[in-house]
Amino acid sequence: MQLFFDLLEPGVSSDRLLNGPTNDVWINPWLQYLKGLGLKYNFEHKVTSIQMQDEEIKSVTIFHKGESFEVQADYFIFALPVDRFAPLITDEMTKVDPTLKSIIPLSKNVAWMNGIQFYLNKDIKITHGHSIFVDTPWTLTSVSQAQFWKDFPMNEFGDGSIKGIISVDISEWNAKGTFNKKKASQCSEEEITKEVWEQMKESLAKDCEDRLEDEYLVFTFLDPAIKIEEAKETKNTEPLLVNVINSWHMRPDDYTRIHNLLIASDYVRTNTDLATMEGANEAAKRAVNTIIYKSKSSSAYCKIHKLRMPFFFKVYRWFDQLRYNKGLPWKGRIF
Ligand SMILES: Cc1cc2nc3c(=O)[nH]c(=O)nc-3n(C[C@H](O)[C@H](O)[C@H](O)COP(=O)(O)OP(=O)(O)OC[C@H]3O[C@@H](n4cnc5c(N)ncnc54)[C@H](O)[C@@H]3O)c2cc1C
Repeated sequence: MQLFFDLLEPGVSSDRLLNGPTNDVWINPWLQYLKGLGLKYNFEHKVTSIQMQDEEIKSVTIFHKGESFEVQADYFIFALPVDRFAPLITDEMTKVDPTLKSIIPLSKNVAWMNGIQFYLNKDIKITHGHSIFVDTPWTLTSVSQAQFWKDFPMNEFGDGSIKGIISVDISEWNAKGTFNKKKASQCSEEEITKEVWEQMKESLAKDCEDRLEDEYLVFTFLDPAIKIEEAKETKNTEPLLVNVINSWHMRPDDYTRIHNLLIASDYVRTNTDLATMEGANEAAKRAVNTIIYKSKSSSAYCKIHKLRMPFFFKVYRWFDQLRYNKGLPWKGRIF
């Protein structure tokens, strides 16, 4: 709905992209800024368990380079993906906050959406924004990066032969490919690469001035979260949460009944209500606000933005609220 509003509003762009590689223009500057404020950031440190005492988190166990150690803190903010947080929830925790139990079934609501990048010796722009290949069985979307990375000229990287990068998301891993007739989740890396390339080539040949030619292709890079091993089922170590109907009640707030446990991830209940960076960001701001409140800090609260709802839904929302107040489910229609 918000995307729809932006499409209608003159002067507002509904499709925005970073002006360089994400680490360079976003993640690293943030990290540097936060480190400047005194943050200590530890890479490759894995939370493996949570210890409770007196209805609070006493410590978490961290695993790093073959060693485990305990960390204590005033507050613990868990910003882990839902499928990583769920296995850490213990009976001791759910005794204090039974609502945490619902995170376990919620963690099953994940799907595969992973990327592959094509490095080309020619810059093929396709379009000035995201491309949606609506006719591809693996539901491909892409961005042709070079046009947006003006301050990062491609010829300054590697051996200088790369002129363009097409970043592709594969959002359907269980439909048969047009050419190899296989599901992406059952393909080797080579098969995935070839099939994605062919699907894009075919789609562009139908209705785009830009064409992809085999001689442009120099190098490809598949998301390392896709773990392909011979004679084994392919695994995805980073699936994406998909909000399904009737799952709001399963999602946690940023605060919990465990006084010092906070959650700041994309599955937290937020106004954004979508598993995105925006949703994760709002969850984090809410968690920060909770700490400011609980610790009686004099810091200003982070601003939480409300999203707009179209006025013509007002009647539906009023009717829905009326039934909800009576403990009734949504009727499916208003009259
Ligand atoms: C292919 C793809 C494209 C996307 N495109 C967009 C987009 O265009 N716009 C948008 O807004 N969103 C997009 N999203 C969604 C967005 O990336 C996520 O919703 C968002 O990153 C979630 O943020 P998060 O902080 O909750 O979790 P994450 O970004 O997943 O961060 C969780 C962190 O926890 C770490 N971790 C995991 N387990 C442990 C452990 N046991 N101990 C310690 N650390 C651990 C992970 O390594 C990771 O760094 C996309 C997602 C995918 C997969």
